[in-house]
Amino acid sequence: MSLITTDIKLVADSLSKEEVAAIPTETVYGLAGNIYSEKAIRSIFRIKQRPLFNPLIVHLPNADALRDVAKEIPAMAKALADKFWPGPLTLLLPKKDTVPDLITAGKPTVAVRVPNHALTLSLLEQLSFPLAAPSANPFGSISPTTAEHVANYFKDAFPYILDGGPCSSGIESTIIGFNEDGAIVYRYGSLAIEDIEEITGPVQEYIRDEETPDAPGMLLRHYAPSTSTILSNDIDKTVSEHVGKKIGLMLFSHSSKADHIVTQEILSASGSLEEAASNLYAAMHRLDQQQLDIIITERFPDKGLGRSINDRLQRATHA
Ligand code: AMP
Ligand code: MG
Repeated sequence: MSLITTDIKLVADSLSKEEVAAIPTETVYGLAGNIYSEKAIRSIFRIKQRPLFNPLIVHLPNADALRDVAKEIPAMAKALADKFWPGPLTLLLPKKDTVPDLITAGKPTVAVRVPNHALTLSLLEQLSFPLAAPSANPFGSISPTTAEHVANYFKDAFPYILDGGPCSSGIESTIIGFNEDGAIVYRYGSLAIEDIEEITGPVQEYIRDEETPDAPGMLLRHYAPSTSTILSNDIDKTVSEHVGKKIGLMLFSHSSKADHIVTQEILSASGSLEEAASNLYAAMHRLDQQQLDIIITERFPDKGLGRSINDRLQRATHA
């Protein structure tokens, strides 16, 4: 098994030897490597079984380090970085030639962010290179929000998992790019679009092209439990359609009184979308481990982080 540790020095030394390591962030755990090491980056793709056409997010210790990887920083990007970094916002910026094509899948832009997690920030400060870090899960499966989730997925594929406790935000970063008209959302995430729009004005939605996805988070099926899962607008009705099966429910704030339920996960009894987002993946992991016939999940209010949760649920339940 990988060693679960809080020893930053151990992990820094391993990364400096071109090994990969799992690291905590406020969003989900990442599988990290030196962006300038072809060996480390190829290991990340191999261990995750991630297709090479899916670019990686570059993690920086602070916004000043942007000048090492970005050729230009539009004023709107600068304003967003000033306001939300460290935090769950990834910016797509024109890349410097020194950023390897393997990181960006040959694209002219590089995805960058400064994560808001004390352990990982001090790790990044000790290193002489930025870290590429996609989520530390096999491609397409539920993202990890604890060190144990990572250990369960990968056994001994790499030496260390830096343990930063459960992730506070719990879903991936919001990805924002830019064109002449302003900001474009590539992936809904932990930072609500409404908060971004206060800085940028109206954010447009990226028009997806499933043939060459710019963001794997945008593939129609992703973040998926292995148990068959249904997204429902009417829990009682959907439950009644599956009588006789072992059913698990995932609900926002209220429990269900329906019969025949084996287990139910309430993501936020107080009705907070932030709390629900932070509990989402851990609840999916728990439900997926209970040999259920079916998981039925409720649709969330379509605002703030509810939009990001619904986005993940739609992909998790896509056939
Ligand atoms: P993950 O690391 O699993 O959270 O996935 C990283 C996300 O960032 C994926 O959805 C990538 O496709 C996306 N991404 C990284 N670089 C770019 C880029 N240059 N253009 C568009 N999306 C990107
Ligand atoms: Mg991922």
